[in-house]
Amino acid sequence: MIKNLQDTVTLHNGARMPGLGLGVFKVEEGPELVQAVKTAIAHGYRSIDTAAIYENEEGVGQGIREALADNRLARDQLFVTSKVWNADLGYESALAAYEASLERLGLDYLDLYLIHWPVKGKYKEAWRALETLYGEGRVTAIGVSNFQIHHLEDLMQCAAVKPMVNQVEFHPRLTQKDLLRYTREQAIQLEAWSPLMQGELLDDPLLNELAAKYGKSVAQIILRWDLQHGVITIPKSTKEHRIIENARLFDFELSGEDMERIDGLNENRRVGPDPDNFDF
Ligand code: NDP
Repeated sequence: MIKNLQDTVTLHNGARMPGLGLGVFKVEEGPELVQAVKTAIAHGYRSIDTAAIYENEEGVGQGIREALADNRLARDQLFVTSKVWNADLGYESALAAYEASLERLGLDYLDLYLIHWPVKGKYKEAWRALETLYGEGRVTAIGVSNFQIHHLEDLMQCAAVKPMVNQVEFHPRLTQKDLLRYTREQAIQLEAWSPLMQGELLDDPLLNELAAKYGKSVAQIILRWDLQHGVITIPKSTKEHRIIENARLFDFELSGEDMERIDGLNENRRVGPDPDNFDF
Protein backbone atom coordinates (compact mmCIF):
# COMPACT_ATOMS: atom_id res chain seq x y z
CA MET A 1 0.00 0.00 0.00
CA ILE A 2 1.33 3.40 -0.89
CA LYS A 3 2.01 5.61 2.13
CA ASN A 4 2.23 9.04 0.54
CA LEU A 5 1.28 10.89 -2.62
CA GLN A 6 4.58 10.18 -4.34
CA ASP A 7 4.81 6.55 -3.40
CA THR A 8 4.87 4.17 -6.32
CA VAL A 9 3.61 0.74 -7.18
CA THR A 10 6.10 -1.48 -8.98
CA LEU A 11 4.68 -2.86 -12.22
CA HIS A 12 5.61 -6.36 -13.36
CA ASN A 13 8.39 -5.04 -15.59
CA GLY A 14 9.96 -3.14 -12.68
CA ALA A 15 8.64 0.30 -13.73
CA ARG A 16 7.36 2.39 -10.85
CA MET A 17 3.98 4.05 -11.17
CA PRO A 18 2.59 6.55 -8.63
CA GLY A 19 -0.38 5.11 -6.78
CA LEU A 20 -2.42 8.28 -7.26
CA GLY A 21 -2.65 10.64 -10.21
CA LEU A 22 -4.72 13.39 -11.81
CA GLY A 23 -7.29 12.61 -14.52
CA VAL A 24 -8.20 15.23 -17.12
CA PHE A 25 -11.13 13.69 -19.05
CA LYS A 26 -13.56 16.37 -20.32
CA VAL A 27 -11.20 19.22 -19.49
CA GLU A 28 -10.89 21.27 -22.65
CA GLU A 29 -7.75 22.94 -23.96
CA GLY A 30 -7.21 26.29 -22.29
CA PRO A 31 -5.94 27.96 -19.14
CA GLU A 32 -8.12 25.91 -16.74
CA LEU A 33 -6.50 22.71 -18.00
CA VAL A 34 -2.94 24.04 -17.91
CA GLN A 35 -3.57 25.39 -14.42
CA ALA A 36 -5.07 22.11 -13.14
CA VAL A 37 -1.98 20.17 -14.24
CA LYS A 38 0.34 22.76 -12.69
CA THR A 39 -1.69 22.88 -9.46
CA ALA A 40 -1.62 19.11 -9.09
CA ILE A 41 2.13 18.87 -9.64
CA ALA A 42 2.78 21.82 -7.31
CA HIS A 43 0.80 19.99 -4.62
CA GLY A 44 2.86 16.84 -5.06
CA TYR A 45 1.04 14.79 -7.71
CA ARG A 46 3.50 12.99 -9.97
CA SER A 47 1.14 11.22 -12.37
CA ILE A 48 -1.14 12.64 -15.07
CA ASP A 49 -3.62 10.62 -17.15
CA THR A 50 -4.74 11.84 -20.57
CA ALA A 51 -5.74 10.28 -23.92
CA ALA A 52 -5.67 11.27 -27.58
CA ILE A 53 -9.48 11.33 -27.65
CA TYR A 54 -9.63 13.91 -24.83
CA GLU A 55 -8.17 16.40 -27.33
CA ASN A 56 -6.24 18.09 -24.55
CA GLU A 57 -2.72 16.69 -24.86
CA GLU A 58 -1.29 20.07 -25.87
CA GLY A 59 -2.48 21.79 -22.71
CA VAL A 60 -1.43 18.82 -20.59
CA GLY A 61 2.03 19.07 -22.14
CA GLN A 62 2.18 22.81 -21.51
CA GLY A 63 1.13 22.31 -17.89
CA ILE A 64 3.77 19.61 -17.46
CA ARG A 65 6.57 21.72 -18.97
CA GLU A 66 5.69 24.76 -16.86
CA ALA A 67 5.35 22.66 -13.71
CA LEU A 68 8.71 20.95 -14.28
CA ALA A 69 10.38 24.35 -14.52
CA ASP A 70 8.49 25.91 -11.58
CA ASN A 71 9.13 22.98 -9.26
CA ARG A 72 12.65 22.15 -10.49
CA LEU A 73 11.63 18.65 -11.36
CA ALA A 74 13.20 16.39 -13.98
CA ARG A 75 11.01 14.70 -16.58
CA ASP A 76 11.73 11.30 -15.04
CA GLN A 77 10.10 12.43 -11.79
CA LEU A 78 6.75 12.53 -13.54
CA PHE A 79 4.61 9.67 -14.86
CA VAL A 80 2.58 10.51 -17.96
CA THR A 81 -0.07 8.22 -19.43
CA SER A 82 -1.90 8.51 -22.76
CA LYS A 83 -4.02 6.14 -24.80
CA VAL A 84 -4.41 5.09 -28.43
CA TRP A 85 -7.93 5.72 -29.71
CA ASN A 86 -10.15 3.13 -31.39
CA ALA A 87 -9.69 4.56 -34.90
CA ASP A 88 -5.94 3.96 -34.67
CA LEU A 89 -5.83 0.33 -33.63
CA GLY A 90 -3.85 -1.01 -36.61
CA TYR A 91 -0.12 -1.73 -36.33
CA GLU A 92 1.12 1.24 -38.35
CA SER A 93 -1.67 3.53 -37.20
CA ALA A 94 -0.98 2.84 -33.52
CA LEU A 95 2.73 3.58 -34.04
CA ALA A 96 1.76 6.84 -35.77
CA ALA A 97 -0.74 7.68 -33.01
CA TYR A 98 2.02 7.34 -30.42
CA GLU A 99 4.21 9.81 -32.32
CA ALA A 100 1.28 12.20 -32.69
CA SER A 101 0.54 12.08 -28.95
CA LEU A 102 4.19 12.74 -28.12
CA GLU A 103 4.21 15.62 -30.57
CA ARG A 104 1.12 17.23 -29.03
CA LEU A 105 2.40 16.67 -25.50
CA GLY A 106 5.86 17.97 -26.41
CA LEU A 107 7.46 14.94 -24.76
CA ASP A 108 9.94 12.42 -26.11
CA TYR A 109 8.51 9.41 -24.27
CA LEU A 110 5.48 8.33 -22.27
CA ASP A 111 5.60 6.36 -19.05
CA LEU A 112 2.48 4.39 -19.92
CA TYR A 113 0.65 3.94 -23.21
CA LEU A 114 -2.70 2.14 -23.18
CA ILE A 115 -5.11 0.65 -25.71
CA HIS A 116 -8.17 2.72 -24.82
CA TRP A 117 -10.95 0.20 -25.64
CA PRO A 118 -10.94 -3.51 -26.61
CA VAL A 119 -12.31 -3.09 -30.14
CA LYS A 120 -13.02 -6.59 -31.42
CA GLY A 121 -10.65 -7.82 -34.11
CA LYS A 122 -8.36 -4.84 -33.72
CA TYR A 123 -6.66 -4.77 -30.36
CA LYS A 124 -4.13 -7.53 -31.11
CA GLU A 125 -2.59 -5.60 -34.02
CA ALA A 126 -2.41 -2.49 -31.86
CA TRP A 127 -0.81 -4.51 -29.08
CA ARG A 128 1.96 -5.60 -31.46
CA ALA A 129 2.64 -1.91 -32.09
CA LEU A 130 2.81 -1.18 -28.35
CA GLU A 131 5.18 -4.14 -27.97
CA THR A 132 7.38 -2.65 -30.68
CA LEU A 133 7.47 0.73 -28.91
CA TYR A 134 8.24 -1.01 -25.63
CA GLY A 135 10.91 -3.23 -27.20
CA GLU A 136 12.60 -0.17 -28.67
CA GLY A 137 12.65 1.52 -25.27
CA ARG A 138 10.32 4.31 -26.47
CA VAL A 139 7.82 3.85 -23.63
CA THR A 140 8.36 2.76 -20.02
CA ALA A 141 5.29 0.54 -19.71
CA ILE A 142 2.36 -0.57 -21.87
CA GLY A 143 -1.12 -1.64 -20.96
CA VAL A 144 -4.78 -1.76 -21.78
CA SER A 145 -7.99 -0.10 -20.70
CA ASN A 146 -11.54 -1.39 -20.39
CA PHE A 147 -10.42 -4.99 -20.83
CA GLN A 148 -12.55 -7.69 -19.24
CA ILE A 149 -11.02 -11.02 -18.19
CA HIS A 150 -11.87 -12.63 -21.54
CA HIS A 151 -10.19 -9.77 -23.45
CA LEU A 152 -7.04 -10.18 -21.36
CA GLU A 153 -7.02 -13.93 -21.87
CA ASP A 154 -7.49 -13.52 -25.60
CA LEU A 155 -4.74 -10.91 -25.85
CA MET A 156 -2.28 -12.89 -23.77
CA GLN A 157 -2.66 -15.94 -26.00
CA CYS A 158 -0.55 -14.21 -28.60
CA ALA A 159 1.17 -11.41 -26.69
CA ALA A 160 4.94 -11.39 -26.23
CA VAL A 161 4.63 -8.81 -23.46
CA LYS A 162 1.95 -9.06 -20.79
CA PRO A 163 0.10 -5.76 -20.18
CA MET A 164 1.44 -4.03 -17.09
CA VAL A 165 -1.78 -2.12 -16.35
CA ASN A 166 -5.52 -2.45 -17.00
CA GLN A 167 -7.38 0.84 -16.46
CA VAL A 168 -11.10 0.25 -15.94
CA GLU A 169 -14.20 1.82 -14.44
CA PHE A 170 -14.00 0.96 -10.74
CA HIS A 171 -15.86 2.44 -7.78
CA PRO A 172 -18.10 1.26 -4.92
CA ARG A 173 -21.03 0.54 -7.27
CA LEU A 174 -18.77 -1.38 -9.68
CA THR A 175 -16.29 -3.27 -7.56
CA GLN A 176 -15.05 -5.60 -10.34
CA LYS A 177 -14.36 -8.42 -7.87
CA ASP A 178 -13.47 -11.10 -10.43
CA LEU A 179 -11.36 -8.77 -12.54
CA LEU A 180 -9.52 -7.51 -9.46
CA ARG A 181 -8.71 -11.08 -8.39
CA TYR A 182 -7.69 -12.09 -11.91
CA THR A 183 -5.42 -9.11 -12.49
CA ARG A 184 -3.78 -9.66 -9.08
CA GLU A 185 -3.06 -13.28 -9.99
CA GLN A 186 -1.63 -12.15 -13.31
CA ALA A 187 0.45 -9.30 -11.79
CA ILE A 188 -1.42 -6.82 -13.98
CA GLN A 189 -1.97 -3.59 -12.04
CA LEU A 190 -5.61 -2.48 -11.91
CA GLU A 191 -6.24 1.26 -12.24
CA ALA A 192 -9.60 2.90 -11.47
CA TRP A 193 -11.22 5.40 -13.81
CA SER A 194 -14.21 7.47 -12.66
CA PRO A 195 -13.34 6.55 -9.07
CA LEU A 196 -15.98 9.03 -7.84
CA MET A 197 -18.46 7.77 -10.42
CA GLN A 198 -18.16 11.28 -11.89
CA GLY A 199 -19.69 12.68 -8.70
CA GLU A 200 -22.71 10.33 -8.53
CA LEU A 201 -21.45 8.64 -5.38
CA LEU A 202 -21.06 11.77 -3.33
CA ASP A 203 -24.51 11.63 -1.73
CA ASP A 204 -24.50 7.91 -0.95
CA PRO A 205 -25.74 7.49 2.66
CA LEU A 206 -23.21 4.85 3.77
CA LEU A 207 -20.28 6.79 2.32
CA ASN A 208 -21.54 9.92 4.09
CA GLU A 209 -21.84 8.00 7.35
CA LEU A 210 -18.23 6.79 6.97
CA ALA A 211 -17.06 10.28 6.04
CA ALA A 212 -18.51 11.57 9.32
CA LYS A 213 -17.03 8.66 11.27
CA TYR A 214 -13.48 9.20 9.94
CA GLY A 215 -13.71 13.00 9.74
CA LYS A 216 -13.00 12.89 5.99
CA SER A 217 -14.89 13.79 2.82
CA VAL A 218 -16.82 11.20 0.83
CA ALA A 219 -14.26 11.53 -1.99
CA GLN A 220 -11.45 10.74 0.45
CA ILE A 221 -13.28 7.67 1.77
CA ILE A 222 -13.70 6.32 -1.76
CA LEU A 223 -10.14 7.07 -2.86
CA ARG A 224 -8.73 5.52 0.31
CA TRP A 225 -10.84 2.41 -0.39
CA ASP A 226 -9.17 2.22 -3.82
CA LEU A 227 -5.70 2.43 -2.30
CA GLN A 228 -6.45 -0.19 0.35
CA HIS A 229 -7.59 -2.51 -2.45
CA GLY A 230 -4.22 -1.95 -4.15
CA VAL A 231 -5.91 -0.15 -7.04
CA ILE A 232 -4.23 2.90 -8.57
CA THR A 233 -6.60 5.80 -8.98
CA ILE A 234 -6.79 9.05 -10.96
CA PRO A 235 -9.58 11.35 -9.72
CA LYS A 236 -10.29 14.33 -11.94
CA SER A 237 -10.70 17.85 -10.63
CA THR A 238 -9.79 21.27 -11.92
CA LYS A 239 -10.45 22.92 -8.54
CA GLU A 240 -7.40 23.50 -6.39
CA HIS A 241 -9.13 22.68 -3.09
CA ARG A 242 -10.37 19.34 -4.46
CA ILE A 243 -7.03 18.50 -6.06
CA ILE A 244 -5.54 18.94 -2.57
CA GLU A 245 -8.39 17.09 -0.83
CA ASN A 246 -8.17 14.10 -3.18
CA ALA A 247 -4.52 13.58 -2.26
CA ARG A 248 -4.96 13.78 1.51
CA LEU A 249 -5.48 10.08 1.99
CA PHE A 250 -2.55 9.07 4.10
CA ASP A 251 -3.48 10.02 7.67
CA PHE A 252 -6.28 7.51 8.21
CA GLU A 253 -7.11 3.90 7.51
CA LEU A 254 -10.46 2.24 6.82
CA SER A 255 -11.12 -0.77 9.03
CA GLY A 256 -11.55 -4.19 7.42
CA GLU A 257 -15.21 -4.08 8.33
CA ASP A 258 -15.73 -0.69 6.69
CA MET A 259 -13.88 -1.85 3.57
CA GLU A 260 -16.38 -4.71 3.36
CA ARG A 261 -19.33 -2.40 3.89
CA ILE A 262 -18.15 -0.27 0.97
CA ASP A 263 -17.62 -3.41 -1.14
CA GLY A 264 -21.25 -4.22 -0.30
CA LEU A 265 -22.42 -1.15 -2.26
CA ASN A 266 -21.64 -2.99 -5.48
CA GLU A 267 -24.50 -3.01 -8.01
CA ASN A 268 -22.38 -3.79 -11.09
CA ARG A 269 -23.46 -0.34 -12.22
CA ARG A 270 -21.52 1.68 -14.75
CA VAL A 271 -21.41 5.39 -15.45
CA GLY A 272 -19.49 4.73 -18.67
CA PRO A 273 -19.92 2.29 -21.58
CA ASP A 274 -19.88 -1.48 -21.17
CA PRO A 275 -16.67 -2.93 -22.66
CA ASP A 276 -18.68 -5.87 -24.04
CA ASN A 277 -21.20 -3.66 -25.77
CA PHE A 278 -19.94 -0.37 -27.16
CA ASP A 279 -20.13 0.90 -30.70
CA PHE A 280 -17.41 3.51 -31.07
P1 NDP B 1 -14.23 11.13 -11.46
O1 NDP B 1 -14.92 9.97 -10.86
O2 NDP B 1 -12.80 11.38 -11.17
O3 NDP B 1 -15.11 12.40 -11.08
C1 NDP B 1 -14.81 13.69 -11.54
C2 NDP B 1 -15.93 14.61 -11.11
O4 NDP B 1 -15.98 14.71 -9.70
C3 NDP B 1 -15.75 16.01 -11.63
O5 NDP B 1 -17.04 16.53 -11.91
C4 NDP B 1 -15.12 16.76 -10.46
O6 NDP B 1 -15.51 18.11 -10.52
C5 NDP B 1 -15.76 16.06 -9.27
N1 NDP B 1 -14.86 15.99 -8.10
C6 NDP B 1 -13.55 15.66 -8.08
N2 NDP B 1 -13.08 15.65 -6.82
C7 NDP B 1 -14.10 15.97 -6.02
C8 NDP B 1 -14.23 16.13 -4.62
N3 NDP B 1 -13.20 15.94 -3.79
N4 NDP B 1 -15.45 16.48 -4.12
C9 NDP B 1 -16.52 16.66 -4.95
N5 NDP B 1 -16.44 16.52 -6.29
C10 NDP B 1 -15.25 16.18 -6.83
O7 NDP B 1 -14.50 11.03 -13.04
P2 NDP B 1 -13.67 10.93 -14.39
O8 NDP B 1 -14.58 10.32 -15.36
O9 NDP B 1 -13.05 12.21 -14.73
O10 NDP B 1 -12.53 9.84 -14.09
C11 NDP B 1 -11.22 10.15 -13.65
C12 NDP B 1 -10.21 9.99 -14.78
O11 NDP B 1 -10.19 8.67 -15.28
C13 NDP B 1 -10.54 10.82 -16.04
O12 NDP B 1 -10.31 12.19 -15.86
C14 NDP B 1 -9.66 10.15 -17.06
O13 NDP B 1 -8.32 10.57 -16.92
C15 NDP B 1 -9.84 8.69 -16.68
N6 NDP B 1 -10.91 8.04 -17.46
C16 NDP B 1 -10.55 6.99 -18.30
C17 NDP B 1 -11.50 6.34 -19.06
C18 NDP B 1 -11.08 5.21 -19.92
O14 NDP B 1 -11.88 4.75 -20.74
N7 NDP B 1 -9.87 4.72 -19.81
C19 NDP B 1 -12.91 6.74 -19.05
C20 NDP B 1 -13.22 7.82 -18.12
C21 NDP B 1 -12.23 8.41 -17.37
P3 NDP B 1 -14.48 19.37 -10.52
O15 NDP B 1 -13.48 19.18 -11.63
O16 NDP B 1 -15.38 20.52 -10.71
O17 NDP B 1 -13.82 19.35 -9.15
